[in-house]
Amino acid sequence: MAKIVVVGDGPGGLSAALFLAKNGQDVTVYGQDQTAMNYAQLFNYLGIPEISGSEFQGIAKAQVSAQGGTIVDAEVTAVAPSGDGYEVTLADGSTESADYLIMNEGRNPQLAISLGVAADDEGAIQVDRHGLSSVASVYVVGRSVRPARSQAIITAGAGAAAAVDILSREKGEDVQDWDSPPKE
Ligand SMILES: Cc1cc2nc3c(=O)[nH]c(=O)nc-3n(C[C@H](O)[C@H](O)[C@H](O)COP(=O)(O)OP(=O)(O)OC[C@H]3O[C@@H](n4cnc5c(N)ncnc54)[C@H](O)[C@@H]3O)c2cc1C
Repeated sequence: MAKIVVVGDGPGGLSAALFLAKNGQDVTVYGQDQTAMNYAQLFNYLGIPEISGSEFQGIAKAQVSAQGGTIVDAEVTAVAPSGDGYEVTLADGSTESADYLIMNEGRNPQLAISLGVAADDEGAIQVDRHGLSSVASVYVVGRSVRPARSQAIITAGAGAAAAVDILSREKGEDVQDWDSPPKE
């Protein structure tokens, strides 16, 4: 089982955490409910009728918790390489280690930048199609990657893609998290 720390509790981080927790990984999300979603009224999230961003976030957090993911109301103040993984420092000075980081800091990805991830001239973090940055085992999802074209459903999809990549790396083969309805 891998240990994954998610920095930021927007839809990208929570989506990643849902897939990881559902598939038996040890995942912790840090955030303080300061997401831009709290200002949004969603009419454009496919499959969900009109919903406030805050209600969406509440449902998303409940889904993560129900699958065994941990959500902690805390600010991450530093991230740094440590051995084969990373050390995460919280505002109270405590630390936690991680095999993978998923950075979902929103419009100000200062901790991701502190790790040395590549960014373009406009400050958008550069990632591959799985959300993997130029720094090993550090994924960046959401507004940090698309600062001028940020949408909740795109962010959630990016979080899912990062999680599926981690699951595939851990298993050593491609993973698809597919379920079917129970048979009558
Ligand atoms: C007024 C408004 C209306 C909008 N309406 C829509 C809409 O109708 N439809 C739509 O699709 N999108 C809408 N959006 C955009 C949508 O809110 C964003 O696309 C989405 O929130 C981006 O998600 P994200 O996962 O990148 O991160 P964010 O939502 O930006 O969340 C990042 C989270 O990480 C936390 N964080 C950052 N650093 C740390 C740290 N060091 N430690 C702990 N936590 C940290 C932040 O506090 C925040 O909670 C709207 C946005 C606004 C402002």
